[in-house]
Amino acid sequence: MPNHLWMQEEHHAFGDSVRRFFDEEFQPHRDQWKGDGYIPKEFWQKSADIGILGATIPEAYGGLGLSRHFDAVTYLEQAKIGDSGWGFSVHNIATHYITGFGTEQQKEKWLPKLASGEMVAAIAMTEPGTGSDLQAVKTTAIKDGNEYLINGSKTFITNGGSADLIVLVAKTDPTSRSKGVSLIMIETEELEGFSVGRKLDKMGMRRNDTAELSFQDVRVPQTNLLGDEEGQGFYQLMKQLPWERLILGYSALGAAQSALETTLAYVKERKAFGQRIMDFQNSRFKLAEAATKIELLAAFLDQCLAELDRNELTAEKAAMAKWWGTQMQCDIIDECLQLHGGYGYMNEYLISELYTDARVQKIYGGTNEIMKELIARSLDAD
Ligand SMILES: Cc1cc2nc3c(=O)[nH]c(=O)nc-3n(C[C@H](O)[C@H](O)[C@H](O)COP(=O)(O)OP(=O)(O)OC[C@H]3O[C@@H](n4cnc5c(N)ncnc54)[C@H](O)[C@@H]3O)c2cc1C
Repeated sequence: MPNHLWMQEEHHAFGDSVRRFFDEEFQPHRDQWKGDGYIPKEFWQKSADIGILGATIPEAYGGLGLSRHFDAVTYLEQAKIGDSGWGFSVHNIATHYITGFGTEQQKEKWLPKLASGEMVAAIAMTEPGTGSDLQAVKTTAIKDGNEYLINGSKTFITNGGSADLIVLVAKTDPTSRSKGVSLIMIETEELEGFSVGRKLDKMGMRRNDTAELSFQDVRVPQTNLLGDEEGQGFYQLMKQLPWERLILGYSALGAAQSALETTLAYVKERKAFGQRIMDFQNSRFKLAEAATKIELLAAFLDQCLAELDRNELTAEKAAMAKWWGTQMQCDIIDECLQLHGGYGYMNEYLISELYTDARVQKIYGGTNEIMKELIARSLDAD
């Protein structure tokens, strides 16, 4: 399995404690939470206790002030246990919006609660009428006195049912496209006019309470505008996207590793025609290909992470990490499932969950077609 050169003793130690945490606090409940369709609040708080939620939040705001490498460790470990239902990634991205663009008052208000798990975060961009074309969002946040009046609806929102704090993408100027977009912070508790619709019935990611959200004449203070200037939302989203896409790449890598590990264990046990499935040349070649792709993906992601650290990761390179990583994830998992035969199709086998969870990776966070469009645009620029 890949040797990440950036991983020092402290990353390994953090990884060990994250792995122990998942073994003790997640694994015993994985089936129950899959049935429930959400992860209980106590799990979030326990993950905060060992430093997962606040790893990259500055110490001044209740976090550990560590580098994003520690978040990457968590993404890898979560994916390696074959889970993508716990919505840590969007929670984490939301904290980065606040650290990156929030006013001092906003950082003081929300970051400590996000680090402690008192608040769970969601990011609401997608609407029933628009996903890829983000500039076409219809939700409005119109200034009214010292408040914003919000109307609109969102769909497919990860953590939507349990979020206490939502980063809402809305138009403060509905007559403009990108320049009309702002990010408005929504505290959901007892918020009049806000409602969570049906929990969506998904083929995978079944532990997540992915939901529809509705805003009808919702009022929030003007100070909930992220940053201090309207119309910055699109820029703020674009600035954070390389990190979001890299996260999807690391999740893809962890899931592919998990698929390879569980498949190796299976093919070494299972026999056909008097020999192990592992002994057929086709199996050996497929597994060798998977192991090679995993190494290549890890090397590319690690290079992207180093560039991100130096503030040099371009949007197109992050797009490469997202599309190629998630495509590799889906390809590898598909081949690994095939090596399980009919058992691979049974829910009791991890490979089956990895398969259904993987599919959405090519869709959210910007579809893979949009990723290729971004890359092509950079190739076409003069
Ligand atoms: C499980 C799950 C969780 C999600 N979590 C969140 C979340 O937390 N927050 C959130 O805001 N959203 C979330 N989403 C929404 C997700 O980001 C969108 O579904 C995605 O961006 C695609 O938008 P769409 O579904 O409207 O598809 P569309 O934009 O309607 O696209 C349909 C198809 O057309 C293609 N297409 C569109 N435009 C182009 C183009 N210019 N060139 C080529 N092809 C194009 C797309 O690639 C796709 O294949 C989630 C979705 C799912 C399924």
